[in-house]
Amino acid sequence: MSQERMEFKTEVNKLLELMIHSLYSHKEIFLRELISNASDAIDKLRFHALTNDELLEGSADYKIKLIPDKEKNTLTVVDNGIGMTKDEAVKALGTIAHSGTKEFMQMLENKEKSPELIGQFGVGFYSSFMVADRVTVYSRKAGEDASVGIKWESTADGSFTIEPYEMNERGTRIVLHLKEEGNEYTDQWEIKDIVKKYSDYISYPVVMDTTKKEEDKDIVEEETLNSMKAIWLKDRSEVQPDEYNQFYRHISHDFKDAASTIHFKAEGTSEFAALLFIPSKAPMNILYADFKSGPALYVRRVQIMEHCGELIPSWLRFLVGVVDSSDLPLNVSREILQNNRQVETIKNNITKKVLETLVKMKTSEPEKYLEFFNEFGRVLKEGIHFDFKRKEEIASLMVMQSTATDNGKVTCLDDYLARMKTEQDEIYYITGKSRAELEKSPYLEALKEKELEVLFMTDDVDDIIVSGLMEYKGKKFKSILKGDISLGKEDEKKEAKEHFAKLTEKVKAVLGDSVSEVRLSSRLKNSPCVLVSGDSDMDPNLEAMLKQMGQEVPKRSKILELNPGHALIEKLNAEFENNPDGEKVADISELLYDQALILEGNMPSDTAKFASLLTKIMTETV
Ligand code: ADP
Repeated sequence: MSQERMEFKTEVNKLLELMIHSLYSHKEIFLRELISNASDAIDKLRFHALTNDELLEGSADYKIKLIPDKEKNTLTVVDNGIGMTKDEAVKALGTIAHSGTKEFMQMLENKEKSPELIGQFGVGFYSSFMVADRVTVYSRKAGEDASVGIKWESTADGSFTIEPYEMNERGTRIVLHLKEEGNEYTDQWEIKDIVKKYSDYISYPVVMDTTKKEEDKDIVEEETLNSMKAIWLKDRSEVQPDEYNQFYRHISHDFKDAASTIHFKAEGTSEFAALLFIPSKAPMNILYADFKSGPALYVRRVQIMEHCGELIPSWLRFLVGVVDSSDLPLNVSREILQNNRQVETIKNNITKKVLETLVKMKTSEPEKYLEFFNEFGRVLKEGIHFDFKRKEEIASLMVMQSTATDNGKVTCLDDYLARMKTEQDEIYYITGKSRAELEKSPYLEALKEKELEVLFMTDDVDDIIVSGLMEYKGKKFKSILKGDISLGKEDEKKEAKEHFAKLTEKVKAVLGDSVSEVRLSSRLKNSPCVLVSGDSDMDPNLEAMLKQMGQEVPKRSKILELNPGHALIEKLNAEFENNPDGEKVADISELLYDQALILEGNMPSDTAKFASLLTKIMTETV
C-alpha cells in the first residue's frame, strides 16, 4: 500500500482557516490539547486493558513525552496510549465529529475570538496548526502488528496524506514542524511553564529530557514536568483556592474562574470524593440534545469515563468536575451505571450538596446568584418539571422581577409569600417577553391599584414550569392572563353583575362563537375590556411561541371581560337599555372585541370591517 492523498471535509478547512487566522492569543494552548489527547489515549488503553491485558504489550509504564528540537524547529509529543488504526486516523483527523461546530465557527467569524471555545467543541488537535505549518502523526494501535502503523501528514492546505509506517511501539507520536514565529515552543523553560500552567493535573507523567550542568558536564535526565496530584482526593483544608482555579481551568478548558467550587468526600455506605464546579458562563450548547454532561468518573484514580451523566440529574448538567468512587467495579459499564445503587447514592449526595450551595449563594451573595441564575436558571428550572420530590425546593431557588421590585432587581417565591396581603390567597404572575412590555399590560391595572404584587415571568418556559408546579407552600399560582380573578367586594360585584346582565348577554349574542363567554372583569382599571383565556387554556405566550415554531395550536375562543367601572361600558349599557336592537350597540361590541385582540398582539379577523366600523363611529362623534 502506498501513500494516499485525501481531502479534508469542508468544515475542517473552514475551521483550520479560522484557527490559523483568527486565534492569535493563547496560542500555547495547542500543547494542552495535545497532552490532553495523549492522556485520553492512555486512559482508553488502560480501560480496555482491564479486560484484555495483551494490549499493554508487556509495558504499563504510561507516559507522555515532549521532545523539543531547536535545530529542526520541531516539537514532538509522544504517548504510549491506545493509538489509531488507519481508518480511525482518517476519521479522527479529517472530519469534525462534534455538533455545535457550526456555531463555534460563526462565533469565531463574529470576531468573538475566544480561545475557551476551542475545548468546548473538541477541535483540539487542529489547534496544532496555530503554531505549526506542517504536522506529522505516526500512530500504531495497541495490540496490533508493527505493520499496522500509519503516518499521517498535512500542511493544512485542504488535504492530508496517509501511508503505512512500521512502528514497533504502540501509541502516537505527533511531530509539529513549527512556524518561524513558533520557535519559542522548542525552549525547555517555555514548555515547562506551559505544562505547569495547563496540564499539571494530568494523571500520567508528562516528561522531557532536560540538561543539567554537573561539574562542567552536560547531564541529560528525563524530568517529570507535572505534579499529577489528584486534588479531589485531598482534604479541603489542604487545597489552596488557586489550585482549585487551575484545576477547574484544566478540566473545563475555561479561561474564567468557576463561580463556585463544591468539594466533599462521602464515607460510610458509599465512599467517594467529588470535586465539582459551577462555571461562571454557560456553554453555548448546553440546551442541545447532544450536550455531553456529567463530571468525569474515576474509580480509585482510574478514569472510566470523561462525562458520566448518570452521576447528576440532567437539570444540574452545568456542573463540571470529577467524581472518584471507591466502591464501583473498575470495569463498570453504562448499563451497570444506569441501575446501580452506589451511583444513585452519589447522585443524591451531589444533588443535595449543590442545592445547599445554591441556597447559600442566594442568601449571602445575591448578585453572584443572579449571575448564576441568568446563566443556568433555565436549566435548573427543568428540575421543577422533572424532579417530583424536589420541585418545591428547586422552585425556592427561582428569582424573578415583580411589580414590587425596582427595575432589574429580583425577588423570589418565599419573599413574595412574606409580602402577601392577608386576604390574598394566590400567587399572581404574568408571562411575557420583558418587564417593560408587561408593565404596560391592561391585565395588571386593577392588581396594581390594589397593591397586589404580580411576578413577571419572562422566560419562555416559565408558564410550563409554573403550571406544572401549580402551587408553592400551599399557595396556588394564578396567571393573571387566564381565568377569573376575584378582586372586588362580593356585594358590589353582585350588584354590577345584575346591572350589566342584559348587556353581557347582548354582547355575547353579537360576537357569537368568536368568544366563549362575555363577563364582567375585576382585573381592569383604565381599559374597557380585555380577552382572557380559560384556566386550563394554553398560555398566550406559549401559544405565540408554538405558532412561531410552525406548530398547530388548537383554536379556542376566549372570554371577553368588560370593565364595569369604565365610562364606555356604562354608556353602552344606557344605550342598550334605550335601544336594545339598535346598530350602535352591535357596532361597539364588535369594536371592543377587535380592540381587545389588538391589545393581545393579534389582528382583527376582518380588518376592512374593523376600519369601516371605526370610521363610522368616529364620523358620528366628531
Ligand atoms: P477531541 O479530543 O475533542 O475528540 P481532537 O480533534 O483533539 O478532538 O481529536 C480528535 C480525535 O483524534 C480524538 O477523539 C481521538 O480519537 C483522536 N486522537 C487525537 N490524538 C490522539 C492520540 N494521541 N492518540 C489516539 N487518538 C488520538
